Amino acid sequence: MAKTAVSPTRAENYPEWYQQVVKAADLAENSDVRGCMVIKPWGYAIWEGIQRGLDTRFKETGHENAYFPLFIPMSFLEKEAEHVEGFAKECAVVTHHRLEPDGKGGLQPAPSAKLEEPLIVRPTSETIIGATFARWVQSYRDLPILINQWANVVRWELRTRMFLRTTEFLWQEGHTVHATSDEAVEETRKMLDVYAEFAENVMAMPVIKGEKTAGERFPGAVATYSIEAMMQDRKALQAGTSHFLGQNFAKAQEIKFQSQAGELEFAWTTSWGVSTRLVGGLIMSHADDDGLVCPPRLAPAHVVILPIYKSDEERATVLAYCESLKAELATQSYEGEAIRVKLDDRDIRGGDKKWQWVKRGVPIRVEIGPRDVAGGGAFVGTRIGEKPQGMDRAKLVAEAPAMLAQLQQQMFDRAKQARDDASVVIDSLAEFEAFFADGQPGGLVYAHFTDGPDMEAKCKELKVTPRCIPLEPLLGDDGPGKCLFTGAKSERRAVFARAY
Ligand code: AMP
Repeated sequence: MAKTAVSPTRAENYPEWYQQVVKAADLAENSDVRGCMVIKPWGYAIWEGIQRGLDTRFKETGHENAYFPLFIPMSFLEKEAEHVEGFAKECAVVTHHRLEPDGKGGLQPAPSAKLEEPLIVRPTSETIIGATFARWVQSYRDLPILINQWANVVRWELRTRMFLRTTEFLWQEGHTVHATSDEAVEETRKMLDVYAEFAENVMAMPVIKGEKTAGERFPGAVATYSIEAMMQDRKALQAGTSHFLGQNFAKAQEIKFQSQAGELEFAWTTSWGVSTRLVGGLIMSHADDDGLVCPPRLAPAHVVILPIYKSDEERATVLAYCESLKAELATQSYEGEAIRVKLDDRDIRGGDKKWQWVKRGVPIRVEIGPRDVAGGGAFVGTRIGEKPQGMDRAKLVAEAPAMLAQLQQQMFDRAKQARDDASVVIDSLAEFEAFFADGQPGGLVYAHFTDGPDMEAKCKELKVTPRCIPLEPLLGDDGPGKCLFTGAKSERRAVFARAY
């Protein structure tokens, strides 16, 4: 068997493989705080790429960034009944504002410094932002309000896994206010489209856009939409959500406005978010048994140049050649920006160095030794696809943008093929049960359903969830049918899967 850079392999132990890729690609590590991770520079650079790409798209669709407090007065959360029920069980609460010696050489919260009203560390900011919006909105002329916040949030999750589910995570949360229901629904769907376009075109991660069933809705939302991706172990990942909040939060937070007709009306709000979970989705969509594979559009470096030399004399000529190649490659543009080139001249063993960049998933590796310098060439390897090979230097410079474009497309095609291969249409409960039986590979099932307790009980038994009701027909778009769980008439299919 071929030796792999990551052990165990995906086939041997998928969950452990995931942890090892996070480590091998130098993305993050567990911290001293349970459930919280340290995001390392390579992982953070990928997150910054996600931020940049999304931030541009948010601004292009008319949104502005702002910032709201980390703390929320406990009473704010209480105002929306479903919201409090949904989040109460995972809130971190601040009760004191001073420490004092405990008399045993340690510290304790000072009893005299107890807060009158406890503060919660935001698990999401609808309530505090809503209270602010109530002050900002008086008339229909103040609408719409289109705000985004880049922030950290805390949800006291019981089972955590780096990037996919952490106690503290980084995210963006969009919050908007509208004069009409139609406009708010349009906004909800528009931002879902923005997420889907970004996931597919930048992350090369195919997604299904759909509406969540009632049981999977955001606490307090009228409708929740999500993008769902399929990971290589055939489990689904909710990669982003967009919520139509109706007037629920506007009523709880008193967001009212004078309409054009002069009536006082409650506004309509939305919220939408994606988090550092996307990095986990990126890993599980594309990484292989040699580590991460970065889609070129998101890669912190497109090309890494690795000088190889034995003597000081060789070092001088090889490095000079590498420097000029780096400068030349950087004159080329990919996606309207200069190609990002890194020259790694650290004094470590060539093999180790090369594998570090393989594991980090850099799209193109260029090794340069004295022979390449003499012949005006380069030894070029791409992270996926053909074997590394010698190439003329000028050809490499000229073709680098096309090579990146091809890699980006290959990654999307490969992920989409894997998803399509694991997607089935099922029309009987027996087949559904057999598909999700223990030991079966699993995948995405398109099946007719009725949203309700029968479906939920069966799904729970099989450790499956309805992921979403697709907005665009994908598979089994054959009109109405019969619900698998109740036998009742069903208008549409939902997608079912095991999920993260
Ligand atoms: P929500 O506010 O629950 O709709 O979540 C917004 C986004 O954050 C979704 O894309 C979730 O996938 C993601 N998310 C939710 N909980 C976590 C968590 N514990 N760690 C990382 N991402 C999360």
